[in-house]
Amino acid sequence: MTKPRTSIWRYVCLALLPASGLALADVAAENRGAQRYMAQLEQRFKCPEAVFRKVQQALDAKDLPVHLQASQAARRQTKLVFYVEYFKQMPKMNQQMLLAQPEALQQMAAEMGMSAAQLKAALTSGVAAVAKPAQFMSRRSAEISLKSDLGPLCDAQCLDNLRWSLIMALTGWKTACLSCSDDFLSLVVIDGRLWLDQRVGKWLRQAPVLSPELFPLKGEANATRARVSAQAHGMAAPEPLSKPMEAVPFELVDMGDPTLRRVCTAPKPAAGQTDVLQRVQGMVCGTDRSAHLATAARMQLQLKNGPTSCGASEAFLGCGQPDNTIEITFDKTRYSFANVFGTKDMVVGPGDSPVLSGMAVLFHEVGHWFGLPHLGYKLDEIPDMMQDTYLDNACASELNLLLMSNMSDEAHAQRFRTGGGYKRAKQGTGRQ
Ligand SMILES: [Zn+2]
Repeated sequence: MTKPRTSIWRYVCLALLPASGLALADVAAENRGAQRYMAQLEQRFKCPEAVFRKVQQALDAKDLPVHLQASQAARRQTKLVFYVEYFKQMPKMNQQMLLAQPEALQQMAAEMGMSAAQLKAALTSGVAAVAKPAQFMSRRSAEISLKSDLGPLCDAQCLDNLRWSLIMALTGWKTACLSCSDDFLSLVVIDGRLWLDQRVGKWLRQAPVLSPELFPLKGEANATRARVSAQAHGMAAPEPLSKPMEAVPFELVDMGDPTLRRVCTAPKPAAGQTDVLQRVQGMVCGTDRSAHLATAARMQLQLKNGPTSCGASEAFLGCGQPDNTIEITFDKTRYSFANVFGTKDMVVGPGDSPVLSGMAVLFHEVGHWFGLPHLGYKLDEIPDMMQDTYLDNACASELNLLLMSNMSDEAHAQRFRTGGGYKRAKQGTGRQ
């Protein structure tokens, strides 16, 4: 820049900077802020022990409504995935010992309503998945946009925090998704900014050679997360697991990061090889984006100041639609969202209206996007975030995880059709 650095010229320069022109240090700070916030959020959305017990009772009593009955089968499936994954990690000698104990096998198999021989076959083949997951569960990338009607109520930094809030909702459900492939949402693009699954980012920077055949994620149903989920849901391992749990979060990347730009010379994939590298190239190097654009999972988040398509804003906070539009109304409503630039929640909305958890609303709508229906079951006892009514104490119960691990294409196609929008809590309820 040779012009004198007058203030007006500086503003012009700033305005011309592309979104990718963020300094590396700024991106790193945002990533650290997001890690901090995500850790709090995990605690915040964990259902209390009493709710966990209620869900177990409901599953044991088998009195679930029809649309939740899939979770009975999924419960067994979840257990099987866990056993198979655990078996893989046992020392060879212990594996042999277990296989040689018919009573132990019988007992484990009975928990899943299968025979000892079926269990043995699953353990030795290492294949636990029986249901064919929805195609959505193996999308490698997502293309998302934000549309705000809020004007000055939500400035540029506020919009960045909302993009991060969305990323956190994606992280939560991706981590919980047993049947999602391990390369599911390897990259997420929101308004031109690029987030990578951290494992992908790390590999791109550190692998000695970048080529499709060496890409570490193979498109298999994600056993690592199955293990995390099994542990989180009280299926205690008989001995400590060797590896720590992974939350598999995303990282925002700087497009100019020289350690990342080496991806620009990675070779093209052969038939049957992953095209994740080419999707990253498309974003970082400005090359062919057709694979990403043709198969990316789509979403548009609309921040509205009037009613949503589901009805009056007095009745509905949010509304998800089959075309993957998610609407949230800020009409006389404020929300708290993630804040990666500071330590306090970001509060967005007009005046001094009560502050609702925007994260709970986002998790709810993104849950639909993943294919989850409304639970519509024991709202007073199970304050799950997928109930049809907003609750301040909304949490993530096992029911969602079980439904998701049994998600078929048909169930996914129904995701926004049943139940309508996310209802506002009636006065005096949901404030515990
Ligand atoms: Zn809903």
